[in-house]
Amino acid sequence: MDRMQLPAISARAQGLGTENAFVVLAEVNQLIRAGRDVISFCIGQPDFPTPVNIQDAGVAAIREGKHGYTPSAGIDPLREAAAREINRMRGLAGPDAITADDVVIGAGAKPFIAYAVLSVTDPGAGDEVIYPVPGFPIYESQIAVHGAVPVPLYLREARDFAFDPDELAAKITPRTRMLILNTPHNPTGGILTRADLEAIAAVLRRHPQVWVYADEIYSRLIYSPGGGEANDSDNAFASITQIPDMLPRTIIADGASKTWAMTGWRIGFAANRTLAPVFTRWVTNTDSCASQISQWAAVEAINGPQDAAAAMRKSFHERRDLIVGLLNEVEGISCKTPGGAFYAWPNVSEACRITGCADSEEFRKRLLHEAGVAVLADIHFGSRVPDEGQHIRFSYAASNDAIRAGIRRIADFIARNRK
Ligand code: PMP
Repeated sequence: MDRMQLPAISARAQGLGTENAFVVLAEVNQLIRAGRDVISFCIGQPDFPTPVNIQDAGVAAIREGKHGYTPSAGIDPLREAAAREINRMRGLAGPDAITADDVVIGAGAKPFIAYAVLSVTDPGAGDEVIYPVPGFPIYESQIAVHGAVPVPLYLREARDFAFDPDELAAKITPRTRMLILNTPHNPTGGILTRADLEAIAAVLRRHPQVWVYADEIYSRLIYSPGGGEANDSDNAFASITQIPDMLPRTIIADGASKTWAMTGWRIGFAANRTLAPVFTRWVTNTDSCASQISQWAAVEAINGPQDAAAAMRKSFHERRDLIVGLLNEVEGISCKTPGGAFYAWPNVSEACRITGCADSEEFRKRLLHEAGVAVLADIHFGSRVPDEGQHIRFSYAASNDAIRAGIRRIADFIARNRK
């Protein structure tokens, strides 16, 4: 019998990109279900439970009947808390500092990537958005699916995974509408220093038509350079909004997912005085509002005691030093010390050569199937940067024992498979 003819799926939807991390994750889970012993460094989320005081605030919200819709921009106490926290982290003060009215609460920070693209570009108009490569893959997919032109800006290992401001200057055209910055950075763990941001601002001042999307979701996960003390303050975080003239044209995106181990609660926030009402309208058109229960939990996350968040950060810092130290002892692998987030991005060009792997993706697959170690490859974060070699990504949101065992397996794999 003929298959029933179904209506078509749009070319737009068929061309929509994704986070290939989820594809690898499915592969890893299948192996684990089949009884294979796999140590996973794939997942970009804290491996801690949400702190108990925050859980309790969520339960209390349910019991107190806080079940209904909220205003699309979010509940006032959360907008106020988020504004205070955004200003505190960036040292913003005075009449231009972020107010509650400038903040919109969303179901995670992720939706604001789409809202920002939709708010500053028109489909098919040739509007360009510059985004980091390697980078969070949703930037490119959202730019493209909404009919803007994705313009990759390459991050350089020699610059600790910042980009060259001259390369930025060369990519800006009269059609450029937005520049996406992400610090600390997924997938490299790199951070933009105050000097990097000054150089970027100097370029942007020549191009007033360009908005900045500052994806600062990892703002609280910053560590001292090198193997420093694990109790340093968070003053090292630098934001483009600290540079004169940059705040009004910058969309700050931050949220609860990473800092308070709340990925599944879905709470993020975006701040920009001009665009807040526009984002609010997008939220009305999509989610209506973020979960009210999660919003009350996030109020507690920001306003309540910070010892659990501080302990998680300290733990990530220690793990960073552990994994980077161990990776650099493995033949064929060299790893820069990332300044933030919970990712390491070692160069494995030499390890690929030693083991006869054509590229990082073949190396990743063999690590998974032959060594029982799951990582992601550079191609999961955009096209490979020309002349920058082969890289893989570790999420070190894993126990010290898992880190030690995983890196040992990789070292053994390379030693065993010398070509
Ligand atoms: N931006 C970056 C760079 C991320 O890595 C992530 C999460 N992986 C997000 C945004 C989205 O975070 P959220 O859970 O708040 O939507």
